[in-house]
This record gives sequence, structure tokens and C-alpha cells, in this order.
Amino acid sequence: MPVEALYRDDFYLSTAEAVVTAVHEDGGIELDRTCFYATSGGQPGDTGFLERADGSKIALGQTKHGATKDIVIHVPLEDQAQPSVGEKLVMHIDWARRYKLMRMHTACHLLSVVCQYPITGAAVGEDESRVDFDMTDTIDKDDVTAKLMELVNQNHPVYLQWITDEELAANPGIVKSKNVRPPVGLGRVSLVCIGENSSVDSQPCGGTHVSETQEVGAIHIAKIEKKGKENRRFRIKFGEPVAEA
Ligand SMILES: [Zn+2]
Repeated sequence: MPVEALYRDDFYLSTAEAVVTAVHEDGGIELDRTCFYATSGGQPGDTGFLERADGSKIALGQTKHGATKDIVIHVPLEDQAQPSVGEKLVMHIDWARRYKLMRMHTACHLLSVVCQYPITGAAVGEDESRVDFDMTDTIDKDDVTAKLMELVNQNHPVYLQWITDEELAANPGIVKSKNVRPPVGLGRVSLVCIGENSSVDSQPCGGTHVSETQEVGAIHIAKIEKKGKENRRFRIKFGEPVAEA
């Protein structure tokens, strides 16, 4: 059953009430609405728990999509109690983890501004993220870090703009990913815009992001690896760069 995706309208919503609409044979739980982000677009799904009326908890692993993108499956960890259809629960996402993912995800967008090459892959992680670029140039990682931190410190607003699938199809140039398809199929696509009037960047993306670049905090490029002749893998980490011995 299609779910009301609360996280799409409010990235900062960490808890809300919901009603169980289905319980799958493998234990997967569907709700009428959710603030849990399901794994997609290189961002891992949210974890957390469902709180039952008696106060007991159903602990959840990474949330995933069902057969289509408008189905969200909440995945209980082993040996959890099973709720019944129609039961009212309170959702709680692991906010500390999600917030790190939002900061990291936004950092990946900033990296695509600093390094204007086609993106061939990306994976957002709570401790480290990676972005792969189709490029042959050699770049100094400390230079990239300095440019990233400039964008962070300028504290640009980050916000969504919605366009139709048709508008996106008519403007293929706005897609930076070579292999990662934009989140089409729901009739509308969210553009993640950075800076007033998208002055810094805009890019189709269905993930979760912070609302101003300052929230990303201190990040640095830990490593740039050569992955084949025309591919460079950038690893982003939180914190100040570690001085090399
Ligand atoms: Zn994004």
C-alpha cells in the first residue's frame, strides 16, 4: 500500500504516530505514514523503533522499499514482537544516526560543486561517504577540503524544489550522475537546491539533507583513490583533516 512519506516534507521529523497497514510473512511492517527514510539513491535506510501502546518497543534495522518506491518496509530486528494490522504505534527514528547521514549527504552535494565531473557512484555513510567521479585529473585533497569548508562556512540555504518528470526529461543537463538515475516515477522529482535561487547548485535527489550548509560541520577529504583509468573515488570524513606522519 502506498505510504504517506512524511520525511519528504520534513527532514527533521524524528517521531510521529502511524497505523500498521500490513505485516509481511518475513516480518516486514507497512504503516499508513512514515518518517523512516528507505534505502535508495546511495543513502542507507533509517533505523529506530516502533513504540506500542503498552510502551514496549519493536526495534528496527534499515528501512527498505517494497516492490515500488511508494512502498516502505520497516524491518524488525530478530526476536521482536509482531504488531497487528490496525494497531496504532509511535515511530521513533534513530535521530543521531539520521542527522549524521543528512550532514554527510549534503557534504556529497557540496563535493559535486567543488569537483564538477560526472558522478559514477556514491554511497552515504554515517562515518564516511564516498563519491566516484569520471575524471582523469589529479587533484590535491587538501585543496578540495578547503573549498568544501568554504561552502560550509558560507552557510548557504539548502531546500527542495519540485519539478515534474516531464520538466526533468526536457532538461537532462541538470542531472550530474551518469549511473545513478534521478528519483523519477512518482510524477514529480525533488531538486535539491543550494544557495539563494540555486546559486551554488541544484540537483535531482530524493535523499534527506540539512537545511543550511553550516550544519554539515567540519568535514575533510580523507583519501582520493584511483579506481581505473578514468575514475577517482573521494572519501569524505567528519572532523578536521588528520595530519599525515
Ligand atoms: Zn541528495
